[in-house]
Amino acid sequence: MNRRIFLRSLSGLSALGVATLAGCTPAEQAATWETTRPGPKVLASFAPIQCFAANVAGDDATVRVVFGDQGPHHIKDNPAHVKMFAGADVVFINGLGLEDRNVKTIQRSLSKKVPVVALGKLLPETLLIEGSCACCKEEEGAEEHDHDHGDHDPHVWMGLDQAVKMVEAIRDELARRDPAHAEGYAKRAEAYNSKLLKLKADGIAMLKDKTERQFISFHESLNYFAKNFGLRLPEVIQTNPGQEPTPKELKQLLERCEKKGIRVIAIEPQYGSGTSAKAVADALKSKGLADVRTIVIDPLETAVESEFNANWYETKMRANLETLAKALK
Ligand SMILES: [Zn+2]
Repeated sequence: MNRRIFLRSLSGLSALGVATLAGCTPAEQAATWETTRPGPKVLASFAPIQCFAANVAGDDATVRVVFGDQGPHHIKDNPAHVKMFAGADVVFINGLGLEDRNVKTIQRSLSKKVPVVALGKLLPETLLIEGSCACCKEEEGAEEHDHDHGDHDPHVWMGLDQAVKMVEAIRDELARRDPAHAEGYAKRAEAYNSKLLKLKADGIAMLKDKTERQFISFHESLNYFAKNFGLRLPEVIQTNPGQEPTPKELKQLLERCEKKGIRVIAIEPQYGSGTSAKAVADALKSKGLADVRTIVIDPLETAVESEFNANWYETKMRANLETLAKALK
């Protein structure tokens, strides 16, 4: 196991009250899943799912994360991932074409299949937004793909309504696997979901007087977030996450932004300084939109080890809302 992931797992767990383990290598720890908690060993694919699962699990089940520092878009194969899967009783992933391909690859190298629950796929159609990665659309027929095609935008964890349903699905799955602790899972899921709903209500209140209801994002990660708060995202800078637009694409994007009067540009902490976002902001400013603002909105795809705890999702989401509320007019 990569040391960063290992440290992250441990830090996440110890922050949530799990005793740290001594005397064996990280890989051995991943393989043995040593824990003092009585319930299932739960593996989450990336940080928001880890956070939801940890809040439902409490002290009853053990929760770890497998792609915590990489996020769901560019997962590199790693034997440590296979070891973590091998020791898990259940794996929660987002699905909807995001980590599915990596999970399938890992499952193929296991001697026995580990149950995988794709939380995004359990969402009702009414809570899903159409669309898949533009990169896939462009690469149709190309030999190499980072991930599978999906019919829906996979960034469901960025919507509070969606997050609440994902928490409920985790609660139901844990209760089914571990009926002895079902009451605890139910209580904690309810308490956590009331925090999430409060967060949504606070966000709506923060944004209710804004007449400016649009902004643009760096990659197509904020559609659910925007929709939950009645905002629009008419454009996206990187149609393929991690890949800057070509000069021609950038020029066309600028023209559309100018026409639509887009003033607030959201960049992501995960993608560095956002070279193209800065280019868009500078160009719009030079065209007379003097108060163009570049803000940082975290799509919560990766977690910094030292930052992760049970309140991670709520804290980051609240910060996103506050930033946006300050920037929009
Ligand atoms: Zn994304």
